[in-house]
Amino acid sequence: MVHRAFCPACGTASGPAIVQLPYDRPPIAAYLADFYRPYPSCDFGRLTAASFTLAECPRCACIYQLDVPDDAFLSDFYGALRTNESAGTSIDADHREQQVRELLMVIRFLQRDIARPKVLDFGCGGGNWALLAETLGLPTTATDLSDEAANRLRARGIEWISPFNIGDAWCDFINTEQVFEHLVNPQDIVRRLSQALRPGGILKIGVPHHPTLRAKLKKPDWTAQKSSPRSLNAVAPIEHLNHFESASLVALAARAGLKPLYPIGWELVPESGLRRHLTLKRRVALYLKRRLRDVYRPYHILTQTMFFRKH
Ligand SMILES: [Zn+2]
Repeated sequence: MVHRAFCPACGTASGPAIVQLPYDRPPIAAYLADFYRPYPSCDFGRLTAASFTLAECPRCACIYQLDVPDDAFLSDFYGALRTNESAGTSIDADHREQQVRELLMVIRFLQRDIARPKVLDFGCGGGNWALLAETLGLPTTATDLSDEAANRLRARGIEWISPFNIGDAWCDFINTEQVFEHLVNPQDIVRRLSQALRPGGILKIGVPHHPTLRAKLKKPDWTAQKSSPRSLNAVAPIEHLNHFESASLVALAARAGLKPLYPIGWELVPESGLRRHLTLKRRVALYLKRRLRDVYRPYHILTQTMFFRKH
């Protein structure tokens, strides 16, 4: 196990664990056996004598696993999960519509300065998002620890690169969807992504977010299914190492020279432009749009998505 002495988002020194449960005894042992039953090659024997631990950052309120499995364990673990996955996942129409509108929101912002923004899907999984970006005519690059989608995406003209060597100052928009919660060292990755952006480029971070996580941790039910309101999936042992608050993401991005952009309706606005956007007339329009649910929101419930711009 690797002990994280600092908050993975803002870098504040870690305090004591607020949760400490041995991996090889109930409730965590029972949770692992049940949740990973479809993946029999997951080997949790190496976690014997280790504990699942959570800490809460006193500064940014990020709740994170204090002691995390090492790279060798995580590599084997995600390899065992992939053996049961089919290539490419289906996607429903509502989700597709949200992805298209979100991407157009970002592209319209960027197109004030750049005609054809270059995009990178970091942690692309089956490649659905990368294929969408390519379909919209954007020069598209994809990467993932697993190269299962590489050949399929290359055949569609999408460039494939190594996640460990993403280059410097070439890209205008980086999509990360359900990536940062898995990272042992998010600071290292956000710095690398920021380096890959050209000035003015945008990084999107989409992560799980359970607003009632603290209350659930007071009366934890580790047997709750992922779909249950009592689910603790936001801090799933081994997998979800970081549960960020929006202040955590702002602090994380700031350390890499990135400032937030805020979706107002379906338009991205920097902090300096918020006042201009919140005139009385615009507030009324926004209120009506909210009532009609015609405003930006992440597709998945229990997630949050933030956008950051490089300066
Ligand atoms: Zn913090």
